[in-house]
Amino acid sequence: METAIELKGITKTYKGEAQAAVCNVSLKVKRGSIITLLGPSGCGKTTTLRLIAGFERPESGEIYIGGKLMAGEKTWVSAEKRKIGMVFQDYALFPHLNVEENIGFGYREKDKKQRVQEVLEMVNLLGFEKKGVHHLSGGQQQRVALARALAKKPDVILLDEPFSNLDTNLKQTMRNEVKRILKKANATGILVSHDQKDALAISDEIVVMKDGIIQQKGSPKRVYQFPRNAFVAGFVGESNMMEGVVQPGKRWITTEIGSIPCNQYHILSEGEKVLLSLRPNGFEIAEDGEIEGVVESFSYVGEYLEARVGVMNEQKKKTSLLIYLHPNEILQQGDPLKLRVSANFVSVVKN
Ligand code: ADP
Ligand code: MG
Repeated sequence: METAIELKGITKTYKGEAQAAVCNVSLKVKRGSIITLLGPSGCGKTTTLRLIAGFERPESGEIYIGGKLMAGEKTWVSAEKRKIGMVFQDYALFPHLNVEENIGFGYREKDKKQRVQEVLEMVNLLGFEKKGVHHLSGGQQQRVALARALAKKPDVILLDEPFSNLDTNLKQTMRNEVKRILKKANATGILVSHDQKDALAISDEIVVMKDGIIQQKGSPKRVYQFPRNAFVAGFVGESNMMEGVVQPGKRWITTEIGSIPCNQYHILSEGEKVLLSLRPNGFEIAEDGEIEGVVESFSYVGEYLEARVGVMNEQKKKTSLLIYLHPNEILQQGDPLKLRVSANFVSVVKN
């Protein structure tokens, strides 16, 4: 597949700062795909977007858009000349202009009226042309911002924290809408988010960042099931981390809670010491479950039952496991419990 954007070893340090905001970042984004830069506040997500848009200049590395060099040691293409649409975190709409004027702002082609109609249709806002933007809801304002970004038929749309100002119900709707709109416009989308749920739901690929450095890149399912290091395991969902030793045959790992199945035998050696991440939703209650524990506490959170189960090993050392069970399960504090864990939720991680 064609590459829409490529970053090669991009580094950016702000003036007066000791640490680079973005450090040696390399990334390829396929045309037509949606990727999300995911990470905690301050990890360099917005800076990466601003570098791609041309609002910041990297001190080293190269940025290609549509195969053309935009930023490099001797090359600099300014933001207006890059075929990029940006949706800012606060939408940055012009408050004194109506919907149609906002969308058409800066559009100089002859087909302006027609193009504004086209993008209004894409974002489901036909009929809103003359409305002042301050009369619109958060979701509608976001649609206008997206329509404005799409109007010039950019190769790439950049969206900075697009869902952070929306309440939970609207968030879910807008996640689906933004995905539908980007796919319909055949645009490549790069989103920034600190919310793992948003990132998992909307993206073809997620890129997890920490301290300006990419930690892992992959499909949402892959990153969730097989986090590569302890940071990713803890940031993208929750995890039980524990050490283990690979058994002969490499299909089982001995841990403080007993033998744990693992699919990643191709990267393991017999007798090797490893760090494991066990996702809380990898467990189920089973008569023949190999993990025996006692219910310490539980809380019903609607979609699932969240429980802590204490597992005692032969040396009388206790491990407290976090597990998610079906909300219909009935638990009592102090109940003994047998659990089975699925290898699909067990991942070998690096530190
Ligand atoms: P994120 O979007 O992931 O929250 P940013 O890219 O905004 O992170 O910031 C990355 C780092 O760069 C942070 O440490 C932040 O304080 C710093 N930073 C961001 N913008 C500036 C700036 N204009 N001047 C100096 N430091 C900045
Ligand atoms: Mg930011």
